[in-house]
Amino acid sequence: MKKEVVIIGLGRFGTSMCRELNRLGHDILAIDTDEEKVNEVSDCTTQAVIANATDENVLKSLGVRNFEHAVVAIGDNLQSSVLCTLILKEMGISTIWVKARDLQHQKILEKVGADRVIQPEYEMGVRMAHHLNSEKIIDYINLSEEYSIIELVAPPSISGKTLFQLDIRAKFNCTVLAIKRFEDVNIAPSPEDEIVKGNILVLMGHKDDLKQFEEKGL
Ligand code: ADP
Repeated sequence: MKKEVVIIGLGRFGTSMCRELNRLGHDILAIDTDEEKVNEVSDCTTQAVIANATDENVLKSLGVRNFEHAVVAIGDNLQSSVLCTLILKEMGISTIWVKARDLQHQKILEKVGADRVIQPEYEMGVRMAHHLNSEKIIDYINLSEEYSIIELVAPPSISGKTLFQLDIRAKFNCTVLAIKRFEDVNIAPSPEDEIVKGNILVLMGHKDDLKQFEEKGL
C-alpha cells in the first residue's frame, strides 16, 4: 500500500531512503536546509522543500501533521534532531524513525518518543564483524540482545538431507525461516524439503544456539 512519508535531512541516509521509497512507489515530502541537497532529490520526491525542520510553524505550513510516517536523518546535529523529533511527536505522527549518531543520542530520542532509532554505522559494523568472524555467515540481523537471524551457505555435509532429518529445531533450538535457491526463496519450508549443496539457510534463534548450530550442525 502506498505510504506518505516525510524525510527530514538529506545526507546520505535521508537521500538513499528517498530514492528507495520512491522506487517502491511511495509519496515523499523531503526537507533540508541545504538547497543543493533538496535539488538533488527533486526527481524522486512528490515535494522537496528548503526549510528548517526545527521550526514548528514551517512544519505545520507544509502539512507535515497529515503524514503517517516520518524519518529524521539530521545526522550529527543532536539538538536539531531531538527538537525535530519532539515536534513531530507532538503533532501526532504515528511512526517516527530517527537516525542517531551514538548510544547517548539514541537514549534521548527514545525518551522523546521516537518509534525506532537507527545507528547505521554501528549496526553495519556489528553485521560486518559477524561476516568476518564466520566465513559461513553471509548475513546477520540483530533482533535483540539475545536473538538474531543469520544466513548461511549449506555445506556439502548436509546436502541431500531433509529438514526432518536434520531436526534443527529439536537439536539446536533454531528455526529455519527460509531456504534460498538462487532467486527462488522458499519462505515456508516444510519437513520434506531437501537441502541442496549451495542452498542458503535463513535461521532464527538465540545467539548461543545459532553459534552451536554453526559450529556443530553443519
Ligand atoms: P549522513 O550521515 O546521512 O550523510 P549528514 O549529517 O551528512 O547525514 O546530513 C544531515 C542533513 O540534515 C544535511 O543535509 C543537513 O543540511 C540537514 N539538516 C541539518 N539540520 C537540519 C534542520 N534543522 N532542518 C532540515 N535539515 C537539516
